[in-house]
Amino acid sequence: MGVMESTASIAKRGLVMLITGNGKGKTTSSFGQALRAIGQGYSVCILQFMKGRKYGEVIAGEKYLPGLRIYQFGLDSFVMRNNPAPVDVEMARQGLEKAKEIIASGEYNMVILDEINVAVDFKLIPEEEVLNMVKNKPAELDLLLSGRYASDKLKEIADLVSEVNEIKHHYNAGIKDRAGIEY
Ligand code: ATP
Ligand code: MG
Repeated sequence: MGVMESTASIAKRGLVMLITGNGKGKTTSSFGQALRAIGQGYSVCILQFMKGRKYGEVIAGEKYLPGLRIYQFGLDSFVMRNNPAPVDVEMARQGLEKAKEIIASGEYNMVILDEINVAVDFKLIPEEEVLNMVKNKPAELDLLLSGRYASDKLKEIADLVSEVNEIKHHYNAGIKDRAGIEY
Protein backbone atom coordinates (compact mmCIF):
# COMPACT_ATOMS: atom_id res chain seq x y z
CA MET A 1 0.00 0.00 0.00
CA GLY A 2 1.38 3.42 -0.99
CA VAL A 3 1.76 6.34 1.36
CA MET A 4 -1.19 8.17 -0.21
CA GLU A 5 -3.48 5.19 0.17
CA SER A 6 -2.65 4.64 3.81
CA THR A 7 -3.11 8.35 4.52
CA ALA A 8 -6.53 8.21 2.90
CA SER A 9 -7.59 5.19 4.91
CA ILE A 10 -6.47 6.86 8.14
CA ALA A 11 -8.36 10.01 7.18
CA LYS A 12 -11.55 7.99 6.74
CA ARG A 13 -11.32 6.26 10.09
CA GLY A 14 -13.51 7.92 12.68
CA LEU A 15 -11.86 9.03 15.89
CA VAL A 16 -12.59 8.35 19.51
CA MET A 17 -11.99 11.54 21.45
CA LEU A 18 -12.10 11.88 25.21
CA ILE A 19 -12.29 15.09 27.20
CA THR A 20 -11.91 14.85 30.94
CA GLY A 21 -10.41 16.61 33.97
CA ASN A 22 -11.62 18.70 36.90
CA GLY A 23 -11.53 22.13 35.26
CA LYS A 24 -14.35 23.95 33.54
CA GLY A 25 -14.60 23.51 29.77
CA LYS A 26 -15.49 19.91 28.90
CA THR A 27 -19.13 20.20 27.89
CA THR A 28 -18.61 23.58 26.24
CA SER A 29 -15.67 22.12 24.32
CA SER A 30 -17.85 19.22 23.15
CA PHE A 31 -20.44 21.63 21.83
CA GLY A 32 -17.66 23.59 20.14
CA GLN A 33 -16.53 20.41 18.40
CA ALA A 34 -20.13 19.79 17.31
CA LEU A 35 -20.35 23.32 15.91
CA ARG A 36 -17.17 22.85 13.90
CA ALA A 37 -18.35 19.52 12.52
CA ILE A 38 -21.78 20.90 11.59
CA GLY A 39 -20.02 23.71 9.72
CA GLN A 40 -18.38 21.03 7.61
CA GLY A 41 -21.69 19.40 6.80
CA TYR A 42 -21.70 16.68 9.48
CA SER A 43 -24.86 15.55 11.14
CA VAL A 44 -24.20 15.40 14.86
CA CYS A 45 -26.01 13.85 17.79
CA ILE A 46 -25.27 14.83 21.38
CA LEU A 47 -26.57 12.62 24.15
CA GLN A 48 -26.22 13.97 27.66
CA PHE A 49 -26.19 11.70 30.67
CA MET A 50 -27.34 12.89 34.12
CA LYS A 51 -28.70 16.15 32.72
CA GLY A 52 -32.25 17.37 32.23
CA ARG A 53 -31.96 21.11 32.21
CA LYS A 54 -32.44 23.39 29.19
CA TYR A 55 -28.87 24.67 29.18
CA GLY A 56 -28.00 27.60 26.92
CA GLU A 57 -26.25 25.27 24.50
CA VAL A 58 -29.33 23.05 24.29
CA ILE A 59 -31.63 26.04 23.68
CA ALA A 60 -29.29 27.44 21.02
CA GLY A 61 -28.80 24.06 19.38
CA GLU A 62 -32.52 23.42 19.07
CA LYS A 63 -33.12 26.93 17.78
CA TYR A 64 -30.25 27.46 15.37
CA LEU A 65 -28.66 24.16 14.45
CA PRO A 66 -30.81 21.85 12.34
CA GLY A 67 -27.76 19.57 11.89
CA LEU A 68 -27.73 18.83 15.63
CA ARG A 69 -29.94 16.40 17.54
CA ILE A 70 -29.81 16.50 21.33
CA TYR A 71 -31.09 13.89 23.76
CA GLN A 72 -30.99 14.23 27.53
CA PHE A 73 -31.16 11.36 29.99
CA GLY A 74 -31.33 12.76 33.47
CA LEU A 75 -33.15 15.02 35.88
CA ASP A 76 -32.43 18.63 36.68
CA SER A 77 -30.94 17.67 40.03
CA PHE A 78 -27.66 16.35 41.38
CA VAL A 79 -26.96 12.66 41.41
CA MET A 80 -25.45 11.39 44.66
CA ARG A 81 -22.22 9.60 43.91
CA ASN A 82 -22.48 6.97 46.63
CA ASN A 83 -26.22 6.70 46.76
CA PRO A 84 -27.82 7.43 43.38
CA ALA A 85 -31.60 7.33 43.25
CA PRO A 86 -33.10 4.38 41.33
CA VAL A 87 -34.47 6.86 38.78
CA ASP A 88 -30.94 8.16 38.10
CA VAL A 89 -29.70 4.64 37.41
CA GLU A 90 -32.73 3.89 35.25
CA MET A 91 -32.33 7.05 33.15
CA ALA A 92 -28.59 6.47 32.67
CA ARG A 93 -29.29 2.90 31.51
CA GLN A 94 -31.88 4.20 29.07
CA GLY A 95 -29.28 6.71 27.87
CA LEU A 96 -26.80 3.92 27.25
CA GLU A 97 -29.34 1.90 25.26
CA LYS A 98 -30.17 5.00 23.21
CA ALA A 99 -26.47 5.70 22.67
CA LYS A 100 -25.95 2.16 21.33
CA GLU A 101 -28.91 2.61 19.00
CA ILE A 102 -27.74 6.02 17.74
CA ILE A 103 -24.19 4.78 17.17
CA ALA A 104 -25.31 1.65 15.32
CA SER A 105 -27.89 3.53 13.22
CA GLY A 106 -25.28 5.16 10.99
CA GLU A 107 -27.53 8.21 10.93
CA TYR A 108 -24.87 10.55 12.29
CA ASN A 109 -21.28 11.40 11.35
CA MET A 110 -20.43 12.40 14.90
CA VAL A 111 -21.86 11.28 18.23
CA ILE A 112 -21.04 13.06 21.48
CA LEU A 113 -21.77 11.36 24.80
CA ASP A 114 -21.57 14.16 27.33
CA GLU A 115 -20.97 13.22 31.00
CA ILE A 116 -20.76 9.52 30.12
CA ASN A 117 -17.48 9.36 32.06
CA VAL A 118 -19.31 10.49 35.19
CA ALA A 119 -22.11 7.97 34.64
CA VAL A 120 -19.48 5.20 34.49
CA ASP A 121 -17.58 6.52 37.51
CA PHE A 122 -20.80 6.71 39.57
CA LYS A 123 -21.54 3.13 38.46
CA LEU A 124 -24.85 4.13 36.90
CA ILE A 125 -23.81 2.21 33.77
CA PRO A 126 -21.28 -0.65 33.43
CA GLU A 127 -17.84 0.32 32.13
CA GLU A 128 -17.61 -2.94 30.19
CA GLU A 129 -20.70 -2.12 28.13
CA VAL A 130 -19.38 1.34 27.34
CA LEU A 131 -16.02 -0.10 26.28
CA ASN A 132 -17.75 -2.59 23.98
CA MET A 133 -19.95 0.12 22.52
CA VAL A 134 -16.90 2.25 21.71
CA LYS A 135 -14.90 -0.68 20.31
CA ASN A 136 -17.80 -1.73 18.07
CA LYS A 137 -18.67 1.69 16.69
CA PRO A 138 -18.99 2.01 12.90
CA ALA A 139 -15.51 2.63 11.49
CA GLU A 140 -16.25 6.07 10.00
CA LEU A 141 -18.06 7.50 13.03
CA ASP A 142 -16.38 10.19 15.11
CA LEU A 143 -17.19 9.64 18.76
CA LEU A 144 -16.54 12.05 21.60
CA LEU A 145 -16.84 11.10 25.27
CA SER A 146 -16.83 13.87 27.82
CA GLY A 147 -16.97 14.33 31.55
CA ARG A 148 -14.65 14.25 34.53
CA TYR A 149 -13.32 11.01 36.09
CA ALA A 150 -12.70 9.19 32.78
CA SER A 151 -11.65 5.59 33.42
CA ASP A 152 -8.16 4.36 32.51
CA LYS A 153 -9.59 1.80 30.11
CA LEU A 154 -11.53 4.43 28.20
CA LYS A 155 -8.43 6.62 28.04
CA GLU A 156 -6.54 3.63 26.67
CA ILE A 157 -8.86 2.97 23.74
CA ALA A 158 -9.35 6.63 22.79
CA ASP A 159 -7.36 8.18 19.92
CA LEU A 160 -7.29 11.53 21.67
CA VAL A 161 -7.38 12.35 25.35
CA SER A 162 -7.48 15.90 26.63
CA GLU A 163 -7.58 16.81 30.28
CA VAL A 164 -8.96 20.17 31.37
CA ASN A 165 -7.27 21.00 34.66
CA GLU A 166 -8.52 23.57 37.11
CA ILE A 167 -6.05 26.35 37.74
CA LYS A 168 -8.67 28.77 39.07
CA HIS A 169 -12.46 28.81 39.07
CA HIS A 170 -14.63 31.81 39.89
CA TYR A 171 -16.81 29.45 41.97
CA ASN A 172 -14.17 29.57 44.68
CA ALA A 173 -14.57 33.36 44.83
CA GLY A 174 -18.29 32.91 45.40
CA ILE A 175 -19.43 33.52 41.82
CA LYS A 176 -21.91 30.76 41.10
CA ASP A 177 -24.31 29.62 38.44
CA ARG A 178 -24.23 32.39 35.85
CA ALA A 179 -26.55 32.16 32.84
CA GLY A 180 -24.42 32.08 29.72
CA ILE A 181 -21.38 30.86 31.68
CA GLU A 182 -22.56 27.84 33.66
CA TYR A 183 -25.85 27.08 31.92
P1 ATP B 1 -18.78 23.49 31.12
O1 ATP B 1 -20.16 22.89 30.97
O2 ATP B 1 -18.84 24.90 31.58
O3 ATP B 1 -17.93 23.26 29.93
P2 ATP B 1 -17.58 21.20 32.38
O4 ATP B 1 -18.39 20.37 31.47
O5 ATP B 1 -16.11 21.17 32.18
O6 ATP B 1 -18.10 22.71 32.33
P3 ATP B 1 -18.66 19.73 34.63
O7 ATP B 1 -17.78 18.90 35.43
O8 ATP B 1 -19.58 19.04 33.67
O9 ATP B 1 -17.81 20.86 33.89
O10 ATP B 1 -19.49 20.65 35.60
C1 ATP B 1 -20.45 21.54 35.11
C2 ATP B 1 -20.66 22.74 36.00
O11 ATP B 1 -19.76 22.79 37.09
C3 ATP B 1 -20.45 24.05 35.25
O12 ATP B 1 -21.44 24.92 35.71
C4 ATP B 1 -19.10 24.52 35.67
O13 ATP B 1 -18.95 25.94 35.71
C5 ATP B 1 -18.96 23.95 37.02
N1 ATP B 1 -17.57 23.59 37.23
C6 ATP B 1 -16.75 22.97 36.37
N2 ATP B 1 -15.52 22.82 36.87
C7 ATP B 1 -15.56 23.39 38.09
C8 ATP B 1 -14.58 23.60 39.12
N3 ATP B 1 -13.34 23.17 38.97
N4 ATP B 1 -14.99 24.23 40.26
C9 ATP B 1 -16.26 24.66 40.41
N5 ATP B 1 -17.21 24.50 39.48
C10 ATP B 1 -16.88 23.88 38.33
MG1 MG C 1 -19.78 18.91 31.67
